[in-house]
Amino acid sequence: MYDVVVVGGGPAGMMAAGRAAEKGRSVLLLEKNRGLGKKLLITGGGRCNVTNNKTEIRTMLSKYKENDQFLFSAFTQFSVKDTLMFFNSRGMATKEENEGRVFPVSNSAASVWEVLVKYMKEGGVEVQTGAEVVGLSIDSETKNIIIATKGKKTIMAKSCVLATGGTSRPETGSTGEGFMWLKKLGHTIIENDFALVPVALSDAWVKKLGGVTLSDIKFTTFQNGQKQASMKGKLLFTHFGISGPMVLNMSKEIGELLKYGEVNIEVDLFPQEDSGALRRRLQELLVGESNKKLKNVLSGLIPSALVSALLEVAGIDGETPNHSVSTEARKKLVMVMKAVPLHVSHLLGANKAIVSSGGVALEEVNFKTMESWLIPGLYLVGDVLNVDRPSGGYSLQLCWTTGFVAGNSC
Ligand SMILES: Cc1cc2nc3c(=O)[nH]c(=O)nc-3n(C[C@H](O)[C@H](O)[C@H](O)COP(=O)(O)OP(=O)(O)OC[C@H]3O[C@@H](n4cnc5c(N)ncnc54)[C@H](O)[C@@H]3O)c2cc1C
Repeated sequence: MYDVVVVGGGPAGMMAAGRAAEKGRSVLLLEKNRGLGKKLLITGGGRCNVTNNKTEIRTMLSKYKENDQFLFSAFTQFSVKDTLMFFNSRGMATKEENEGRVFPVSNSAASVWEVLVKYMKEGGVEVQTGAEVVGLSIDSETKNIIIATKGKKTIMAKSCVLATGGTSRPETGSTGEGFMWLKKLGHTIIENDFALVPVALSDAWVKKLGGVTLSDIKFTTFQNGQKQASMKGKLLFTHFGISGPMVLNMSKEIGELLKYGEVNIEVDLFPQEDSGALRRRLQELLVGESNKKLKNVLSGLIPSALVSALLEVAGIDGETPNHSVSTEARKKLVMVMKAVPLHVSHLLGANKAIVSSGGVALEEVNFKTMESWLIPGLYLVGDVLNVDRPSGGYSLQLCWTTGFVAGNSC
């Protein structure tokens, strides 16, 4: 019999186990993979975007949209400042990059992993890897939690922290069985509506641009000719469509729109400049190199990888000498540079998702402790919870906050 059994050795589970042990509880952590934190080690491209440096709680919570009301009491117990102090005081220096994203100075997710493993070790957490849990139930007399593991072994605990993650990137171990157990126990599981996923396009020309990044562009979505939403940032072309932080952040909205019909996107390559100014710049470029071909000078304005694709979209022959480019062709080129048209085919599924929204309905969790309102002694943390959030360190911050609060309370 343990005071606490933590199911799932991802970031949320490790934080919860470490904190519970630090408070003197006897803690067992069960992880079905052979190692801990398989997903953690691939976060941020292996560099791990640990949190986002928004130290004012309300500013931070505004990023979690309407979920902020739920998260407030948990964040007052373990905030971004606490996260930074937690890692920094354990010898992991951090640095801030664009848009407040915080990374380890080592540029390695392994540094984060090492802090958590050491934290658990210092508290005396018993870690069992290769230990797959197959079910959770409640002892009707004692109200203890019964954790069934593969091989018919059962373990009893006064409290159980469920940290089995969501369903994105199942090869890392997040296969969603925790949701099945919770459903059986009476919890409401909100359907997985994939958020933060790359967007596949139907435009064939895009496939030639795989790997090209466009910075400082404006991205606007349309449905039935109506403008829907706009964002500025970086766009990454892939072999199937588009990705990058801005696209990932727009994917939920795009997914919603797709339920109702076609979604088109326009990319403004020069959001800081109006069409007139851009037309003048193009004219100067053409006059300055009047004997060259159009396709050979456009890289003076746009990334060279984009030149032939843009000429194709505009329907203009790149072989035309600059002195012969018609006024109409110049206008068309400027129009395309201000609104490169893209057509959404679909969102990529769970296999490429960064995080999945969906999970336990937040109304069913006491965020002062992370305990289930329905099952006393059961604590819910990390990606198990139905919290939408953008990319930028917000998912892991949720793991640190909910993991710490659960470990502190159970
Ligand atoms: C490619 C990628 C990059 C990302 N980068 C970032 C980033 O830079 N910053 C950021 O904030 N977020 C990032 N995220 C999101 C972040 O990784 C997740 O939010 C976070 O890992 C969730 O942690 P968790 O502990 O709740 O669940 P998980 O990390 O999914 O861990 C759950 C664990 O439970 C185990 N488990 C599941 N079922 C069982 C079972 N039946 N028995 C025993 N064990 C079980 C799994 O094997 C797994 O180890 C990224 C996600 C991906 C996929």
